[in-house]
Amino acid sequence: MCVIRLKSTREKSLLRRHPWIFAGSIAEVLGSPQDGETVRVVSSRGEFLAWGAYSLQSQIRVRVWTWQEGEIVNEDFFRSRLLSALAMRKVLVLPSQTNAVRLVHGESDGLPGFIVDRYNDILVAQFLSSGAERWRSLLADILLEVACLECLYERSDVDVRKLEGLPECSGPLRGPPPPERIQIEENSLNFWVDLRQGHKTGFYLDQRQNRLRVRHLAQGRQVLDCFSYTGGFTANALAGGAISALAVDSSVEALALGRENLALNALPADQAEWQQGDVFQVLRLFRDQSRSFDMIVLDPPKFAPTTAQAERAARGYKDINLLALKLLRPEGLLVTFSCSGGVDADLFQKIIAGAALDAGVKAQIVERLFQGPDHPVALNFPEGAYLKGLVVRVIG
Ligand code: SAH
Repeated sequence: MCVIRLKSTREKSLLRRHPWIFAGSIAEVLGSPQDGETVRVVSSRGEFLAWGAYSLQSQIRVRVWTWQEGEIVNEDFFRSRLLSALAMRKVLVLPSQTNAVRLVHGESDGLPGFIVDRYNDILVAQFLSSGAERWRSLLADILLEVACLECLYERSDVDVRKLEGLPECSGPLRGPPPPERIQIEENSLNFWVDLRQGHKTGFYLDQRQNRLRVRHLAQGRQVLDCFSYTGGFTANALAGGAISALAVDSSVEALALGRENLALNALPADQAEWQQGDVFQVLRLFRDQSRSFDMIVLDPPKFAPTTAQAERAARGYKDINLLALKLLRPEGLLVTFSCSGGVDADLFQKIIAGAALDAGVKAQIVERLFQGPDHPVALNFPEGAYLKGLVVRVIG
């Protein structure tokens, strides 16, 4: 059993049960752990602190599995963590709401680096850390067993794998490959999802309740849906009685699927427009053309994965929010999001305040939005609260 001894000055975070141990916190490695191997983490004085998975290459050198000395990291351990994660979803995300749910949310479900989304009868997994990778076969088997399903597809084609020295990979892991596209249901709307090529695991499940919120706010409005992907907000806006919706995204494939999503729900195609383009440029063009809207959704991709990129990201957020605020009519609503881990809710609010000030627009926050309950935030892992949104009303 390899042992990781921490520096005395760097124990605090682990004592507060943060699950990451950075390379710089380690005083000594006793033995030569392999990638993903379970190691014993001890204090500078040698007292037990945690069991964790060792990463040979990542700056996050250890991710904690458990703080209990008596808990052995084995099949039973993973079964119990998975059962608990699945049980929570059964209670908090009802089948009447959707058949597409995040079942396992990494660190926040006590399974660092492991993500599982359920799309009806198909599971899609991501193994994002050396620890998760080491246990992949066992995790796949137990997951299917506890979910009583047969089909598991892998979408570990993500950048963060590089930090762990792991290659990107995707493909069927258990059972037959899924069809090219599948249908899911979310709050009584149906969506096509491309599990193989779509973003993330296919759909942005974290925005489920916010899409519904937009449906409830869209009545009678002309809506601009920026970074629309496959039209989740656009479909909801039209379902909620929007007069029109204009979806803008850089991905032609996403927009094509968006069009089909309207047809799938018998929503009026003539009230929707799909525009391929760079939102930064499109908003400028609309400003120059003096176009205006009653509701603008801004749901950009992650500008700042970590705090190191926060400053650059802040400029990006300010830019699009400033432009959007200028395009809104009096009483218009800006529904704006950040999914950057490196930009917290306070900073995001400050950025939007700065944007309103520079835009010369008087506005107020009328609602705060968040990721859904199937994307929980463990209290010892504040980084889990990555998605934050504001509904801002432009005062007439
Ligand atoms: N709102 C969507 C999810 C948006 S994800 C939903 O509810 O499903 C972010 C989207 O931004 C992706 O579809 C990506 O293709 C798009 N994107 C990224 N950079 C862009 C840019 N500069 N201009 C336009 N679209 C962009």
